[in-house]
Amino acid sequence: MNSLLLTGGRVIDPANCFDGRADVLICHGKVAAVGPDAAAKAPVDTERLEVSGKVVCPGLIDLHVHLREPGQVAKETIATGTAAAARGGFTSVVCMPNTSPAIDNAGTVALIHERAAAQGVVNLYVAGAITKNIAGEELAPIGSLKKAGVVAITDDGHCVQNNDMMRRALEYAKMFELPVLDHCQDYSLVIDGVMREGYWSTVLGLRGWPAAGEEMMVARNILLAEATGAHVHCQHVSAAGSVRLLREAKKRGLPVSGEACPHHFTLTDAAVAGGEKFFASDGKGVFGLDVSSGDPPSWPAYDTNLKMNPPLGSAHDREALLEGLADGTLEILCSDHAPHCDYEKEVEFDYAPFGITGLETELALSLMQLYHSKRLGLADLIAKFTVGPARLLHLPKGTLSVGAEADVTVFDPDREWVFLRCDSVSKAANSPFYGWPLRGRAVATFVGGRKAWVEQGELATA
Ligand SMILES: [Zn+2]
Repeated sequence: MNSLLLTGGRVIDPANCFDGRADVLICHGKVAAVGPDAAAKAPVDTERLEVSGKVVCPGLIDLHVHLREPGQVAKETIATGTAAAARGGFTSVVCMPNTSPAIDNAGTVALIHERAAAQGVVNLYVAGAITKNIAGEELAPIGSLKKAGVVAITDDGHCVQNNDMMRRALEYAKMFELPVLDHCQDYSLVIDGVMREGYWSTVLGLRGWPAAGEEMMVARNILLAEATGAHVHCQHVSAAGSVRLLREAKKRGLPVSGEACPHHFTLTDAAVAGGEKFFASDGKGVFGLDVSSGDPPSWPAYDTNLKMNPPLGSAHDREALLEGLADGTLEILCSDHAPHCDYEKEVEFDYAPFGITGLETELALSLMQLYHSKRLGLADLIAKFTVGPARLLHLPKGTLSVGAEADVTVFDPDREWVFLRCDSVSKAANSPFYGWPLRGRAVATFVGGRKAWVEQGELATA
C-alpha cells in the first residue's frame, strides 16, 4: 500500500499557519494533499484511518537526546532510543556527541548514520562535538564534521570553559553555517554540586549547583554571539536568570535562542526531598494533579531519578521557564533524554550519574504544563517541537506542506493515561514520572509515510 489517508482530524501545521479540520493524504512517502479535497485525490487502494478527535501535526522533532551509541549500548541503543521516540510522538531526533568514543570525527558520524539506516525507527540527525573528545582543549575538525553531515556542534554533557576557544568555535561554525548548541555550566562555580543550591540542598545536606553556574555561561554566550555574529543556542535552560538574559538579548536582536525540558518546568528542587515534600511545597505548579484527593505519585528522598544536569530549580525558576516558553523567549521544547542503567542509578545520590529519560513523557508534560494550563495554544506548543528546531538546525522537516516527507504525528491532547515502567520501550528505566497520571498522548507516528508506531485499538480504519 503506497498511500494513506488520515480523515477527520484537527490538522495543526504551524509552518503553514493552518489549524482546522482536514484530511491528510500521504502518497509514496510524501504529503500529497491536506484539506477537504484530499480524499478525492486518494488512489483507490488507499488505506484510510479515522482520526477524528485527534490532532494531526508535522512529525515532532526532539533536538536533544542521548542514544548512547557507540560505546554505551547497555544504557540505550539507536534501535531502542528511536523506538521510544516513535512511541512518544517523535519522527526525528538529534543525538548528542558524548558517546564513547565521542562524535568528534567524520568516521563516527558515518558509523551512526549507517546504524540509524539499519536500526533506526525514526529519522536520526547527529550533533558533532565542539572539541576533540569533548575535553574542551582542542577544537574538533568542524569542517569535516559538517561535511560528514552533522546538523550542529555541541560539547553537551560538558561545556567549553575557555572563552577564547568558544569564540573560535563560533567563528568556524559560522563559516560552515552550523549552529552551536551549548550546555551552559561554569565549572568553577558548580564544582561538584549535585542539586540546585538553595533551601533544599541545605536541608538534604547535598552539595549545591548554583543557578549562577548556568547563568554565567548564558551571559558568556550572549556576549560571544554579539562579538562574532554567530548563533548560539543555550541547551536545557533551567534558571530564571538565564531566561531573563536571553529575553534581553533577543530584544536587542542578538542571534541567541534557548530550549527547555519538561522536567525543569514540571518539577522543582523540592522533589529531591521526596514526593510528599514536593507536593506539599510545590505541587500546585503541576497542572491537573489534584494532590488533595486520590493518591499522588510518591517517591523517596534522595531518589537518583531526580538527579540531572542542570539540576531541578526552584519554584521561581520553574515559573520563569513557563513564562519564557509562553512569551517566546524559549522557542524549543526537548527532552534531554539521558538513559542510564539501573545499577548506575542505584547508588548514593552523590555518586549517581546525571540524567533521566524523557522521550515518552515529554509531549504529555508539555501539554499539561503549557496547553491545559492555558499558557500556550496548541499551535504554539506544536511549533516548539516542529518549526522551532527545524529552523534552528536548517532541517527540511517540521511541516505538512505538499511535497514534504510525510513525517506525521497524531496525538490525543486529552487522553488520560499513567506512565508505567513496564510500558516503556526505552532500554533504560531512569524516569521520575513512573506512576504519574498524565494527560495527552501520541497515538500514531508516521515517518516518511511509514507507520513507526500506532497504538493498538486507537485508530479505526475508515
Ligand atoms: Zn546537557
